[in-house]
Amino acid sequence: MRLISFTTGVRTSFGIVVGDGIIDAGARLAGEFEGLRDVLAAGALNLLRGMEGLPADLALSDVRFLPPIPDRATKILCVGVNYLPHIKEMGREPPEHPVVFVRFADSLVGHLEPMIRPRESVQYDYEGELAVVIGRAARRVPPERALEHVAGYACFNDGTLRDYQRRGPQWTPGKNFPRSGAFGPWLVTTDEIADPAALTLTTRLNGETVQHERVAELYFDVPQLIAYCSTFTVLEPGDVIATGTPGGVGAGREPPLWIGPGDRVEVEIDGIGKLENPIVDEPDAR
Ligand code: MG
Repeated sequence: MRLISFTTGVRTSFGIVVGDGIIDAGARLAGEFEGLRDVLAAGALNLLRGMEGLPADLALSDVRFLPPIPDRATKILCVGVNYLPHIKEMGREPPEHPVVFVRFADSLVGHLEPMIRPRESVQYDYEGELAVVIGRAARRVPPERALEHVAGYACFNDGTLRDYQRRGPQWTPGKNFPRSGAFGPWLVTTDEIADPAALTLTTRLNGETVQHERVAELYFDVPQLIAYCSTFTVLEPGDVIATGTPGGVGAGREPPLWIGPGDRVEVEIDGIGKLENPIVDEPDAR
C-alpha cells in the first residue's frame, strides 16, 4: 500500500493512494485515529488493507501532501556519511559507528511543497535519501530481526545549509532550518518492498541527474542502522531513520552547486515514487 498524509485545506487526514486518487481512510474511520502514526501504534494497518478495493474519495490533485508521518512528536534520526563516495567527497574517513543526528519535524515539508532557503545562508544543498518508517516498537533489536520492525519506506531530501552544518561538530543547526528538507511523497509498506537493499535512488536537479546509487551500497545497511539506533533509544511506530545520502551532493562539486529559488529537486526511488519540491527564498530574504 501507498499511504499518504494530506490536508484538504480545511482538515488533515490520511489514506491509501490508488492511481490518481486517495481512499480517505481518516474520514472512513470517523476520526478513530489521529493519523498514520496512530494507526501504526495501534497495529491497525489491516483496517486500511480492508479498504483497498474501495473507490477513491479524493483526487491527489485536490490535496496538499504532508510528510507521511507529520506528527511533531516523531523522532527523525538521520545518518550522515553513509555511502563511500559521499564520505570521500566530504573529506571524511569511513566511520567506525553510524554517524547519527536528528531533525525536527518542522524542518520537513511534503511532496510538491516549497523547500525554503533561509535568509542566513546561500549554501543550500540537496541530499536524496531512503527513509525507513518504524512500524513496531524496537529496543536493542539484532540486525537479523530489524526489518520486522519496519512499516515501510519513503523518499527523503535531507536539505542542508552547509555553512551552518560546519559551524561545529554537531550538525543540528545546518539540518533544521524550518521547511528546509522534504519527506514523501508517501509511505510504501513492506509487503511491496521485501529488501530495501534492492532499491535504487536518483536525485535530479532541474531534471538533471546529480545522484544515482544503489541502496545496496550503504556503508551501514538498514538492519544495522535499526539495530544501532534501537540500542540508544526506543524506536516507536512512526519514527523515521533517514539512511544517508550517496555521492554527488552540491558541496562535493567544484565549484559547489547550491540550490536556490527557481530550482526543483526530485528524489526518486524505484518501487516507492518521486518526491519533488521547488526551492523558494524565505519571504523578505535578501
Ligand atoms: Mg543526509
